[in-house]
Amino acid sequence: MSNIFQSVNPYTGEVLSSFTKMNEVALDSQLEESAAAFRLWADYSLEQRKKYVGLFAEELKAHRQELAELITREMGKPIRESLAEVDKCGVLIDYYLQHADAILAERKVNTEFSESYVRFDPIGGVLAIMPWNFPLWQVIRFAIPTLLLGNVVLLKHAPNVLGCGEYIQALFHNAGFPSSVFRHFIIEVELVEKVIAHPSVQGVTLTGSDRAGRAVAALAGKHLKKCVLELGGSDAFVVTETADVQAAAAKGFTSRMLNSGQTCIAAKRFIVHESVVEEFEQKIQALSEDLVIGDPLEANTVMSVMAREDLVDELERQLDQLLAQGAELVFGGNRIDNHFEPTLVRGVKPEMLPYQEEFFGPVGMITTYSHKEELPDLINKVPHGLGASVWTQDELLANSLIPKIQTGFVAINEMVKSDPRLPFGGAKQSGFGREMGQEGMLEFANMKTVIVN
Ligand code: NDP
Repeated sequence: MSNIFQSVNPYTGEVLSSFTKMNEVALDSQLEESAAAFRLWADYSLEQRKKYVGLFAEELKAHRQELAELITREMGKPIRESLAEVDKCGVLIDYYLQHADAILAERKVNTEFSESYVRFDPIGGVLAIMPWNFPLWQVIRFAIPTLLLGNVVLLKHAPNVLGCGEYIQALFHNAGFPSSVFRHFIIEVELVEKVIAHPSVQGVTLTGSDRAGRAVAALAGKHLKKCVLELGGSDAFVVTETADVQAAAAKGFTSRMLNSGQTCIAAKRFIVHESVVEEFEQKIQALSEDLVIGDPLEANTVMSVMAREDLVDELERQLDQLLAQGAELVFGGNRIDNHFEPTLVRGVKPEMLPYQEEFFGPVGMITTYSHKEELPDLINKVPHGLGASVWTQDELLANSLIPKIQTGFVAINEMVKSDPRLPFGGAKQSGFGREMGQEGMLEFANMKTVIVN
């Protein structure tokens, strides 16, 4: 097995950088350093930690363009989206700088004791196993709240975005963070167990596929460590007969095509009432014709390559299977190298096998329905439960659906999108635990009950 990882530009095929894999000896000593960093960091006051996080935010702003270009070079997303990703991290940091004091404040509880309260203490190191689709955002949305809480972060990033992992670590270093409070580990998955097993590591969070989630949850169980999983999704996007079809098509199309379709909360299954399906399809098709596809470093490019060739192969396999089982192409369907055309398929039925899978690329599926009673079943008939979007002017219908939808997020007349102020996570096979908001910040806290007699 080679001892290097290579980062390759999926648009040009150019090898960008090589990274030497950490061996077990280096990993052991680094784990000890992380443990020492925790002892130091946990002793800092929240005010001190906020000061470092504020300096990190300045570093991020100062390197906005360079970092965005690195994201684009390593995983192929259009530069406008990479810039938006950097900016969104800035918004998240502002949110936590403003709200950390309130979220982490002791909560008094009235009892017969002279004092009783709950406090939120750090637990140690938390391993973050992260994917390549939002190589900055997914790291930052986890790291910032947990660092403010007093935990230290051990990052294992996806092999195709290791340059981003190194860059993020350098930003923490430049912001003056004590050494190893945030540490990027360049390791093979075989070494993940060693990290999880280490006594100073008290939790693990993973964003990625169900397959990876199962493996990591098993390791977390074996070593009795807390785990949070943000896994795939196959979100329903419901367009009812009373929907504003123009608005629904615009948001549905954006949601499906963003990041060249490689987003966990993308609208993947369009469930459309028979009376508006033709209009919806036409509007989506018109939007696809205007899409600027090309070099991801060009400012006006809206869609570009997928991040890896195997991801394109997998999408092609899923689409072929769907068409072989009777679904029909509305438009698109072709690949050229690492590009996959924006694609829409109609006549998709829940019984078709790929319906049960996550389509991680720019392929939208349309399922038509006739009666609102069919909706809960259609929405929920997949193993995933990340988000769902419902477009309707019928408030009664919306309110009756919300409790029946088995997902961690429901959006009415809006696309599903993450927001630092709101908890984010899934139900069913989309994982468990939450990121962001108050709930996300407390996932890796020791909620310590104190009574004083
Ligand atoms: P993976 O889930 O394999 O990768 C995500 C991260 O998990 C990577 O850092 C990966 O490291 C790590 N990982 C994978 N297996 C293990 C394991 N056994 N133990 C510890 N860590 C592990 O995603 P892929 O890149 O292979 O993408 C495959 C599919 O996953 C996509 O098509 C999509 O359906 C889904 N996905 C969903 C995402 C989401 O946002 N929900 C994000 C990315 C993928 P390594 O690569 O070194 O194995």
